[in-house]
Amino acid sequence: MIVAEPKPVEEIKKMLDGYDKVLMVGCGTCTTVCLTGGEREVDLMATAVRLMHKVEGKDIQIGQQTILRQCDWEYIDELQNVEDYQAIVSFACGAGIQGLARRFTNIPVMPGVNTNFIGFNEEYGLYSEQCKACGECILDKTGGICPVARCAKGLLNGPCGGTNNGKCEISSDKDCAWVLIYNQLEGQGKLDQFKQILAPKDYGKAGNIRMLDLRK
Ligand code: SF4
Ligand code: SF4
Repeated sequence: MIVAEPKPVEEIKKMLDGYDKVLMVGCGTCTTVCLTGGEREVDLMATAVRLMHKVEGKDIQIGQQTILRQCDWEYIDELQNVEDYQAIVSFACGAGIQGLARRFTNIPVMPGVNTNFIGFNEEYGLYSEQCKACGECILDKTGGICPVARCAKGLLNGPCGGTNNGKCEISSDKDCAWVLIYNQLEGQGKLDQFKQILAPKDYGKAGNIRMLDLRK
């Protein structure tokens, strides 16, 4: 899933300076799962922004709606009476925020979250980055462990000289991805695979403005 974190309420309040009728839109998929942008978080943020305005003697009207996904026209079209608002705050990932900005071009759309990475839900409230969406997956060659996302240097042939008792040189809290890969391949009886040199990746596939057309 896409992992995001909430923006501080002060930052959101500042974005909304000058607006007194605002729509906050939650996303029912990734940002709900990572406890950042679902119905509950939108409700909490709306309450906090209303209170901050009240303390300053100002009034703000905040509408709240949550749709299943903001990265899909089908669900964006379910939003009601959007034209009644002066601004929108989206609590989806960057793709969803831009989805609203593309649909409602006359209304400023603000980000309610910071989008961080493609990650795994380790446990309630704890997420780890797993994939950089490089466009050329090599997990078949690395025991199902991604060195692009999980090695601090993104090395395709590791480990580097900094590996230390199974930990990465950048922090003793972080596993060395290449030790994980070694252990995984050893457990599978595939250490011969570890000795094979991986060719440089085509990082052009991880470039900008990517589209994927699976219609045909
Ligand atoms: S190799 Fe690329 S596509 Fe595969 S998990 Fe790693 S970053 Fe993602
Ligand atoms: S110690 Fe391991 S994870 Fe860290 S940079 Fe070196 S090879 Fe990558």
